[in-house]
Amino acid sequence: MSKCLVTGGAGFIGSHLTEALLAAGHEVTILDNFSTGATGNLVAFEGHARLRKLVGSITDPVLLAEAVRGQEIIFHLAAAVGVKLVADDPVRTIETNIYPTESLLRLAINNKQRFFLASTSEVYGKNPKERWTEDEDLVFGATSKPRWAYGCSKAIDEFLALAYHRSYGLPVVIGRFFNVVGPRQVGHYGMVIPRFVDRALAGEPITVYDDGSQVRCFAHVREVVKAVIELTLSPKAEGQAFNIGSDQPISIRELAELVGRRAGSSVPARFVPYSDAYGPDFEDIQRRVPDLSRLERTLGWKPKIELTQILDDIIAEKRREQR
Ligand code: UDP
Repeated sequence: MSKCLVTGGAGFIGSHLTEALLAAGHEVTILDNFSTGATGNLVAFEGHARLRKLVGSITDPVLLAEAVRGQEIIFHLAAAVGVKLVADDPVRTIETNIYPTESLLRLAINNKQRFFLASTSEVYGKNPKERWTEDEDLVFGATSKPRWAYGCSKAIDEFLALAYHRSYGLPVVIGRFFNVVGPRQVGHYGMVIPRFVDRALAGEPITVYDDGSQVRCFAHVREVVKAVIELTLSPKAEGQAFNIGSDQPISIRELAELVGRRAGSSVPARFVPYSDAYGPDFEDIQRRVPDLSRLERTLGWKPKIELTQILDDIIAEKRREQR
């Protein structure tokens, strides 16, 4: 049993991670400002005897120092996330994603705490390769387009984490999440599956951006947090970045059809230009598929829950909420 800090512990992935850590017998402190992390995410384990909640911002250095004190493992998930939020508020993205990561790393070197850094497939930018391995080039667009600020900010975090590993021997592990989905995820920040499911259940047309030929792979949050915990505890994983997600690709157009079928809706999808959703000059990533060899080699398994199963879980949860 370890003492763990989860920054962003009230968020979508953070709350699932917290729940899994508590279930495994760990003591968990979550630090969250509840900006994108809804209080509702904690309902399943609110009041748990081994859970401590710190409400505030990771940009507050006093709170950060208090949160880190006495911990054995730090899971750093707090960040400005979601392409839409990032496009709307680039200053907050940069400030939230870079400075607190450095402060946390610096605090962690005193006691050499194990450190998991949540990163993202956005760091690959628009690399045109079919499948991305972790040592692939990062290919970003112009700085005049705010969308790239997100991937760049997390790439800086990765550079920082690896530098602290090399210079101070800090046991860091980096996880690059690829389209993580599951119960409790909300669609306000642009995430495609909760948006599609909400529309289909309401009997409204699903809104597919552009022609829907863009490709993604969706992983169940339950398997993603299992991978995060195992990697963080594994000495073999130290000092490396890992793709974490599913490697089964699907186009967004096919996804829209599948969601419609699973949710029992026959309303046809509506195709809208990117500019209607994200404003002018938006550039999407056409294809995002991870190579999971490193993850599989290190853990001996990779996420395999099928998309139909994931969608059924999400649809069932939304139906329960509607009752
Ligand atoms: N998307 C869509 N309709 C929506 C929301 C998203 O067609 O209502 C598309 C979006 O343009 C992208 C894909 O679905 O190509 C995945 O979007 P999401 O924001 O979930 O993840 P990311 O773009 O980070 O992969």
